[in-house]
Amino acid sequence: MKNDILELEITDITPEGFGVGRSDGKVYFVADTAIGDVAKCLVLKELKSHAFAKLLELVKPSKARTEPQCPVAKKCGGCSLQHILYSAEAELKQNFVKQSFARIGNMDILVNPTEIGAESKYRNKVQYPFGKGENGECVFGYYAKRSHRIIPHEQCLLQDNVFTQIGACCAEIANKSFLKPYDEATGKGVLRHIVMRKNRKGDILVCLVVTENHKKLLPLAEKLKAKFDCITGIHININKRRDNVIFGTETICLLGDKVLQDTLCGKTFNISPTAFYQVNAEMAQRLYQKGKSLVSDKKGKVILDLYCGAGTIGICLANSEDKLCGVEIIESAVINAKENAIINGRSEENTLFVCGDAAIGVAECKKRFGDPYTIIVDPPRKGLDKEVIQTVAEASPKEILYISCDHATLARDCAIFKEYGYTTCEATPFDLFPRTGHVETIVCLRKQ
Ligand code: SAH
Repeated sequence: MKNDILELEITDITPEGFGVGRSDGKVYFVADTAIGDVAKCLVLKELKSHAFAKLLELVKPSKARTEPQCPVAKKCGGCSLQHILYSAEAELKQNFVKQSFARIGNMDILVNPTEIGAESKYRNKVQYPFGKGENGECVFGYYAKRSHRIIPHEQCLLQDNVFTQIGACCAEIANKSFLKPYDEATGKGVLRHIVMRKNRKGDILVCLVVTENHKKLLPLAEKLKAKFDCITGIHININKRRDNVIFGTETICLLGDKVLQDTLCGKTFNISPTAFYQVNAEMAQRLYQKGKSLVSDKKGKVILDLYCGAGTIGICLANSEDKLCGVEIIESAVINAKENAIINGRSEENTLFVCGDAAIGVAECKKRFGDPYTIIVDPPRKGLDKEVIQTVAEASPKEILYISCDHATLARDCAIFKEYGYTTCEATPFDLFPRTGHVETIVCLRKQ
């Protein structure tokens, strides 16, 4: 019952970072705990099937515990696993994937140990919201847990400090020029977000999400560029909507480069501010190498890359003789993918990138190149629509390479593919997001 004090042994952790303990057949979720903790907990909220409790005192601390390194660990909504040793986190993520396949997919498959990389400074992209400080001034930061309250930002361990310095400099220039931050409640103000992306050389492309192309934005961009040599281009993206979606549809390059160039697996990629690009390039490269090792290296095969973004996976995996068809819904990413095919020496004859829904992919591919031999899918968190699964399975490819940022929808979809005769051999988690509850997973499905 609410306000009861219980002693719980923590036996599991959820991806949101809640420890799981059981008492009298009821499941309790307790923040800031680790597997192996025995803790005195105060019941905060009791529901029919489960309850939430607060850690009062550690009776016996787990060996997997560590002191969070970040000064705002408790307030910020970003890293949910900072209080756990990274080695334990890697094991936990392997278990998340195992549990999804067992519980959701009803499949007993081999899940390899999590592939791990750098624990800090791995993010190449940040998107800070702007907001009003105590005195109405422009501030930037990250949202507090489950809220849109901005925690003013000094440092984030997951990313290079230069992002914070650019954010702070931008807020300072905005304040001096009386350029107002956007106010969610009234819809007034100009500056909504600052989105920045850094390549492996250290170049940074900045995109200011704004409500209008205000005359003070170009002088702001010029001042910002003059302060930071690493900035290679500054864009604005105009978003007048009142919802939570960050980008609007129109992007204008105010100065410098139109795209950021980065290299992965020895290939070069142009990335626009609004195109998707993996936030952890080092680990993305290893993920793509793994993908290449899982699919056939038969030359001249037809590859269909669904949800292809800027074409990165398909271009990294395809041999020059292969026919490559990519499908992606964001137009700026498709433009990048077409350029990227050319930059990396792919012939026009063997390459097709189409802007549209993944559901049209198989038909587009067949029309130009015939039946796909390999289909790659890399959908957003919600996974594949039934219609996409059906068109993919009915195209009867030899292999389906599925890369997923949500193991629950991955397991669900692999179970549906099983009904079409596709077996999931093994899964490998790749930790593209250390210290957070997220993990990327790669599997290859084959027809029996
Ligand atoms: N494979 C790419 C991008 C993966 S992220 C990479 O590794 O970089 C998922 C991509 O799917 C995003 O680029 C997103 O814009 C795109 N997308 C989302 N919904 C889609 C849909 N219904 N049809 C096609 N692409 C979609």
